[in-house]
Amino acid sequence: ATSSDKGGIEGAVNEAYNKYKDLKEGKNADYIPELAKVPSEQFAIVVIAPDGKVYSKGDADAMYSIQSISKVLTLARDIEDFGPKAIQDKIGVDPTGQKFNSAVFVEENKGKELNPLVNAGAIAATSMVKGNTYEEKWNTILQTHNDFAGRQLSVNDPVYKSEAATNQHNQALASLMNSFERMYFDPAKSVDIYTKQCAININTKDLAMIAATLANGGTNPVTKKKVVSPETVAHVLPVMATCGLYDDSGIWFYNVGLPAKSGVGGGIMAIVPGQYGIAAFSPRLDEAGNSVRAQKAITDIVNKLGLNPYLVK
Ligand code: GLN
Repeated sequence: ATSSDKGGIEGAVNEAYNKYKDLKEGKNADYIPELAKVPSEQFAIVVIAPDGKVYSKGDADAMYSIQSISKVLTLARDIEDFGPKAIQDKIGVDPTGQKFNSAVFVEENKGKELNPLVNAGAIAATSMVKGNTYEEKWNTILQTHNDFAGRQLSVNDPVYKSEAATNQHNQALASLMNSFERMYFDPAKSVDIYTKQCAININTKDLAMIAATLANGGTNPVTKKKVVSPETVAHVLPVMATCGLYDDSGIWFYNVGLPAKSGVGGGIMAIVPGQYGIAAFSPRLDEAGNSVRAQKAITDIVNKLGLNPYLVK
C-alpha cells in the first residue's frame, strides 16, 4: 500500500476484480426487454474515500440504468422535505419479506406497512415528491440524483421506453395502492415518473459518488454540496440495511453488516458511514434480482478491509 492508500483499498479492489472477472453465474434481467441487451460481461468496482479519492477497476465508465437504487435517492428527498415521520406513516419502513414487486403483500396489508424500497412503496414515495405537477416532481427527482452524483445525469431513453411499454404490473400496483388511499398523486403519472427515475443513466463512478455522499452525512465529498441533512441520511441507511437487497436483505446484512441497495440494472452500492462509498456493477443477477458479481466483490472488499461495523476486535 502507498501512503495515499493506507487501508490497502487498491489491493482489495484489484483482488476482488480478478477473483470474479470470469464468473458467469446468474443472468441479465429480461422482464424489461432493453436490460437483456446490456453486455453481460461488463464488470466494475469503485470505492470512494472521504477525501473524494477514487479507486476503480474494470468498466467503471460503462453507463447503465440506475433502476431500484433510485428509490434510495427519492426516499432521501422525501425525508428531507417532509420529515421521517411522514414516510413511516404514509408508506411504512418494515421489510416485507416478499419479492420487490409483490402485489399480494399490498393486498394483504391494505397498502400499509410497506417500505420505500419495494416497488409499491417506491411508487408511493415518488408520488409524494415535492411539486404539484408531473414536471415539478420529475425535476425535483432528477436534480436530487444530479446532486448526489455531483454531475448532470440524463435518462436512458431506450430503457425508459422499454419499461414504460411493459410496466403493466407496476401500474397495477399503483392502482391497488390508490384503492387503499396510499398514493399521493395521480397513480398513472406517478408510475411514469417512477419508471423514468429508474431509467436514469449512471456509471459505477457515479454510483460510488452517490454512496460516498451518503457515507459523508449527505454532503457530496467532491462538490461539497449539502444534498440532504445528516439526520435524513440517518433515516435512509437503516431502511437500506433492512430492505436494500429485496428478499435477500437479511442474508446480505448477516454477511456484510452494511446498508446497501441493488438495482436490476446490475448495480449495487454499499455505505460505510463516515468512511467509504463502495459500488460494483455487473448485469448478471441471482434469483432475488441482485447482481452476483457485485455482491461478491463488495463482500470481499468489506471483509478484506475490515469495514463491517459490527466486527470489533
Ligand atoms: N424499474 C424496475 C421495476 O420497477 C426496478 C426494479 C428493480 O431494480 N428491482 O421493476
